[in-house]
Amino acid sequence: MSGTADVARTAVVTGGASGIGQAIVRRLTADGLKVAVLDLTPGTDDCAFTVDVTDRAQVDKAMDAVRERLGPVSVLVNAAGRDGFTRFAQLAFADWQRVVDVNLNGVFHCVQSALPDMWEGRWGRIVNISSSSAHSGQPFMAHYVAAKSAVNGLTKSLALELGPRGITVNAIPPGFIDTPMLRTAERNQRLGGTIEEHIARTPVRRVGRPEDIAATCSFLVSEEAGYITGQIIGVNGGRNT
Ligand code: NAP
Repeated sequence: MSGTADVARTAVVTGGASGIGQAIVRRLTADGLKVAVLDLTPGTDDCAFTVDVTDRAQVDKAMDAVRERLGPVSVLVNAAGRDGFTRFAQLAFADWQRVVDVNLNGVFHCVQSALPDMWEGRWGRIVNISSSSAHSGQPFMAHYVAAKSAVNGLTKSLALELGPRGITVNAIPPGFIDTPMLRTAERNQRLGGTIEEHIARTPVRRVGRPEDIAATCSFLVSEEAGYITGQIIGVNGGRNT
């Protein structure tokens, strides 16, 4: 069990059916937390819910079901995400809106929906998975980078607001992590080079693994990490792009 709490805490991981979210689910489960997944295609897990994080009614319904089955939600990891790749001049507003909706508004809905339990329990951990692209920008991904940058801002503001109640809020902006999202981007020639070329430009000379993000997340949601909040903690092999 993570930290010093004597009862297993309940964690909700959005996007927990694939890639980074899935690794976080495995790690937090191994740490002894009770973990529920909210995802578009959540798999067959006992506590997995089909939820579009942009739909508040779906989020609230799933969060209530989690409370009923596993108890109050004290850990929330927002990993659900969707990328996009279009020259800005051709970017349709509907595409802009969808990417902002999933990556930013989804975080709004999930935090508001889970927050009453943390507030009541005077203890909470929120980790938002943003993106290293928010650091320097990324051509053809203005909508995605705008949304992820906003998530970093939201993280800092919530940390100030919720800290006095024992709730920490941090963001992990991953670098290049080997997941279905990254492989699809490579296949569609959206990466500005192959993964191998990116590895050559990464100080630690390898692509990131979902488990790299999960390990950092595991620490941030632990009891021991209670003095860390409002931080944007890059996990990127030394490369901030
Ligand atoms: P992934 O393998 O595609 O996983 C993302 C998961 O989120 C998928 O299961 C996806 O479901 C789900 N999802 C998408 N839209 C959703 C919605 N509206 N409601 C609920 N679930 C939804 O991607 P990943 O690489 O693990 O990415 C995880 C997070 O890390 C994302 O926020 C991403 O932006 C961020 N990130 C990743 C990288 C990287 O290099 N991989 C770098 C920087 C940031 P479907 O598969 O059914 O769409």
